Amino acid sequence: MKNIILLAVQGAGKGSLARVLSDKYGYANISMGEVMRNARNDGTQRAKTIAEYQDRGELVPFDITLDLIKERISQPDCENGYILDGFPRDLAQAEAYKKILKDLNKDIGVVINLTIPEELIYQRLAGRRTCKNCGKTYNIYSEKFLPKQEGVCDVCHGELYQRSDDTEEAIKKRVETYFHVTTALIDYYKKQGVLYEVPSIDIDETTAEVEKILGEHND
Ligand code: AMP
Repeated sequence: MKNIILLAVQGAGKGSLARVLSDKYGYANISMGEVMRNARNDGTQRAKTIAEYQDRGELVPFDITLDLIKERISQPDCENGYILDGFPRDLAQAEAYKKILKDLNKDIGVVINLTIPEELIYQRLAGRRTCKNCGKTYNIYSEKFLPKQEGVCDVCHGELYQRSDDTEEAIKKRVETYFHVTTALIDYYKKQGVLYEVPSIDIDETTAEVEKILGEHND
């Protein structure tokens, strides 16, 4: 079993791939945004700070983020491997994460950079519908990701909605910011020999490619 860091622009299919891998192999599926959302409701000062930053759409302070990730990957469900989505976001977090792994005697595993042509990002995000209840995503422009019943989640029957920040302008801004920040992260992991670029056009092909990489790394 391997730990996996998933790097990809929004709309590249990170969530879908993480779901497939965790269902198939039992990896813990960790979305940093979700870890934050869970931690903002426990009534502590830390929770208040997280809520303030999240509501402004800014990155939550460094120390809090690191404490949360350390707590999360120390849970028993991560012992056999986990998939990280949304962390690390920049080089400072990547450096700090390295130290945490060392303290916990864990391995970095592999870093998968999912790549897709830019025009596909817009199509995917514009067609994306998210379940209000469980967060599962669908796409009304893709046969493989259509819900069985229009507007209703297959898993929990929750209502599907379109995110308010999935407008073309907001998407463009997010995409630009993403590429700006992650280039450094990609170089950083490339130099360490743990980075793999995987095209994310078709979920089945992407999954097969990632499985191949994981197989090569099973020591
Ligand atoms: P996401 O669900 O990935 O869009 O993240 C939602 C929010 O959670 C972000 O706007 C940040 O406030 C916070 N967040 C998620 N990941 C991180 C991270 N690695 N570092 C700091 N804040 C984060």
